[in-house]
Amino acid sequence: MSPLDVAEPVTEIQRYEALDSSIHDESFVTQRTKVPSRLLKVIPHPVAKAFRDCMPHGVNMPNFVWMAIINTGAVAAFWHFSWPGLVTAIFLHWVTACLGVTLGYHRLLTHGSFTAPKWFEYFCSLCAMIAAEGSPAFWVATHRKHHVLSDQPGDPHSPNDGFWWSHMLWFKPKVLREDEDAMIARWAPDMWKDPVQRVFHRIFPLFPILLGAGLFLLGEWMHLRGWATTGWSMLLWGMCVRMIACYHSTWLINSASHIWGYRTYETNDRSRNLWWAALLSYGEGWHNNHHAHQKLAIYAHRWWELDITYMVIWVLKKVGIAKNVCDQLPARPH
Ligand SMILES: [Zn+2]
Ligand SMILES: [Zn+2]
Repeated sequence: MSPLDVAEPVTEIQRYEALDSSIHDESFVTQRTKVPSRLLKVIPHPVAKAFRDCMPHGVNMPNFVWMAIINTGAVAAFWHFSWPGLVTAIFLHWVTACLGVTLGYHRLLTHGSFTAPKWFEYFCSLCAMIAAEGSPAFWVATHRKHHVLSDQPGDPHSPNDGFWWSHMLWFKPKVLREDEDAMIARWAPDMWKDPVQRVFHRIFPLFPILLGAGLFLLGEWMHLRGWATTGWSMLLWGMCVRMIACYHSTWLINSASHIWGYRTYETNDRSRNLWWAALLSYGEGWHNNHHAHQKLAIYAHRWWELDITYMVIWVLKKVGIAKNVCDQLPARPH
């Protein structure tokens, strides 16, 4: 190749001039305007339309980012395994999912299946808030609405709108603060009148964040004292893995326990008794029994149905903390 064959270098100005001339080239413009008219019409894609219908105010971004972090942490946890981390995860799973969400949010605060001193209500609320499933007032209001409108229009999480909607998509839409406050005032006025619960409602994200920081510091301290663990191990197992397990055990009640399993009672909804969901959720999976007798503290209505949460309530009754326990089983259905 001779030096004459080498193309002349194109300066930035020359590039711009070439581009500019093409923009103003009449044939180019004509060509662009010959786009078939059918492509110029805005065609509403069914997915886009469904998205707009489900999420009129867009996506709940704080929730979306939180879930992304927790899921990433749960995967990373397998590179930071330690036995103290695993034991912490199992213990905190029981504290948050059984004592907090199931016993506290659900049976005590939502349905009043027993009464307890105010300090115990707040203690259960604290246990549940570190499960990061929403504030006590939000959870109670949403669940009462579910019972009133079960599998009908207005049910916050019915599998009639699809499995994934009922399992975990239903809380992905952004909800305006005034709408959420109105929903709570309508469905949980007792919680809304309680000044402590109103404070909890405003600051509840602080509690899991503080616990995560505490677990990290505890793990680092244990590491310095010679324990076979680290701050990251305690944080990832005690928070991320534990919370993912807790989330799905709660969500399965809204999805799977309204789809699969057997029905002991003919209720006006799709609720089912699902043994494996009951095992994962400390007894909540006997969901058809619960929909039929919502105030009852016992969810196991046959001798082989296991309800761990009721066993805890039974102990609380024996030590005098739980009173007025609704534990008289109905006559066996035929
Ligand atoms: Zn239900
Ligand atoms: Zn319920």
